[in-house]
Amino acid sequence: MTAAKAEERFSGLGVSEGIRVGNAFVYKPFKPEAIQDNKSEDTQRELERLEQAKEHCQTELGLLVERASATLGEEKATILKGQISFLSDPAFYPPMQKLIQNEHWTAETAAKRTIEQVAGLFDAMASEYMRERAADIRDVGARLISHIVGYQGAQLADIREQVIIVADDLTPSDTVQLDKQFVLGFVTRIGGKTSHTAILASSLGIAAVVGAGSAIEGISHGDELVIDGSTGQCVQHPQADTKAHYAVCQAEEAAERERLLTVAELPAVTKDGFSVELAANIGTPQEAIGLLDKGAEAVGLYRTEFLFMGAQQMPSEDEQYAAYREVAETMQGHAVVIRTLDIGGDKELPYLDLPAEMNPFLGYRAIRLCLDRRELLLTQLRAIIRAGAYGTVKIMFPMISGMEEWRAAKALYEEARSQLVAEGASVPPAMEVGVMIEVPSAALIADRLAREVDFFSIGTNDLVQYTVAVDRMNEKVAYLYDYFHPAVIELIRTVIDAAARHGKWTGMCGSMAGDPLASPLLLGLGLGEWSMSAASLPRVKQTIRQLDRSACVELAQRLLELDTAAEVRAALEHFQNGSTNR
Ligand code: PEP
Ligand code: MG
Repeated sequence: MTAAKAEERFSGLGVSEGIRVGNAFVYKPFKPEAIQDNKSEDTQRELERLEQAKEHCQTELGLLVERASATLGEEKATILKGQISFLSDPAFYPPMQKLIQNEHWTAETAAKRTIEQVAGLFDAMASEYMRERAADIRDVGARLISHIVGYQGAQLADIREQVIIVADDLTPSDTVQLDKQFVLGFVTRIGGKTSHTAILASSLGIAAVVGAGSAIEGISHGDELVIDGSTGQCVQHPQADTKAHYAVCQAEEAAERERLLTVAELPAVTKDGFSVELAANIGTPQEAIGLLDKGAEAVGLYRTEFLFMGAQQMPSEDEQYAAYREVAETMQGHAVVIRTLDIGGDKELPYLDLPAEMNPFLGYRAIRLCLDRRELLLTQLRAIIRAGAYGTVKIMFPMISGMEEWRAAKALYEEARSQLVAEGASVPPAMEVGVMIEVPSAALIADRLAREVDFFSIGTNDLVQYTVAVDRMNEKVAYLYDYFHPAVIELIRTVIDAAARHGKWTGMCGSMAGDPLASPLLLGLGLGEWSMSAASLPRVKQTIRQLDRSACVELAQRLLELDTAAEVRAALEHFQNGSTNR
């Protein structure tokens, strides 16, 4: 009999609630760039290694094509078929053999060099379609090299039973491809509370703990784990009494969920009759299904980049139109705020093949990238405007930092509209067009912006990172990352007041809107539309229904005078205890 392994406890940041018990799936992505250049005199052996790897790859891709046709659709299957044909392409395989024969490189070095060279040629082509093929070549190339070196690590696509994923990090593109039926939750070594991986996990309903640090290094494939996505507590090899404890917690969690659902159909109105609009953040059209029943009155933020990240190449105007129209129709006339592409920062699009940057969050991101690649934004705007004929669609530009960007983006919207009108397309009469307030410079000129925009939506996830100069992904400085920082509160007040002076509305779609502790402050400051993950809606609605708006206005005035985030938090906790005891 083997001895039971000792129970180990560790913790990280709980970013997507849910208690889950399951076996670990340790994910270590293969990194072909880490392959060192090496030579070998045994040319024959290297040629055989290359040939065997190619055959394995072809078999594996063949199986994936079958699976993809059945589950992921013909489009993904076609891409994989294309990858199989690359493997035998005269521009791909023979050059690798030549590098082995003539220059005596090992099979993996020959493959790495050829792939980079061929992908580089595609990168330089004028046609966007051909440039996008570079990502496919690198993808199939990485698969080939992993077979040459006999890489044993399990891939996310291999998951076929319910597991808890353990990884150094999961990128948003990894997360968007996770199959909800098999992934109970995940725990990662790095990551912050508002990383897009965390945001996605919560919108997909996958329990998640990030930033668990080196504790995850001791976890092996198949180890039993418990993770608590609310508290961030995790247990490896849980003993019977620990499992019994968590079973009780799971039952309580389910009961609380049921209880909160009863507020779903009640209005979001304070005790003294002040109404606010509660909306949900979504990343995919599927997430809009059932939102109205969960108590959302609108979609306050549709993060369209996940549509782009889930694809192997730039979605066409018609593909985008179909997705946006689906959301508009699902929401049956309720507002849908569609945010234009926000790529960059922690969100990559492999087929754009953007160079790595020193400071990606301060760099070529969101509206900056889109104004530089006008066609991309124009196509998206055309798709959104066309979808606007099927509901109440509003457009929002991310990461606006000044008037020029807003005006340039708005001009592109007008251009897209004029094109569609000239083409005789059915175009909705008027659409609201607004901006996200995520950059302090935009907040400080809110009064000017408010003259021209139709609305603001405050993105606190970025506003905090840019105001306090604290990377939202970096767990080492997570202690500084706090939306109760007096500077952030002051900016929020400035924005809401500026909009009100010009008769415009202000929403908030950053995580602060979904935190019940912040509710009295936001009510007191006069926030009109609150958009959050669907999971946060019931608790925030219940909180609002217990509050008195006039008391919150007074409270907000007092909080604006405080010196530190800790003082604001303490005052809000004190107020919360007072209001729930009343
Ligand atoms: C924000 O920055 O608050 C926001 C909602 O946008 P994202 O989290 O997608 O950057
Ligand atoms: Mg943002």
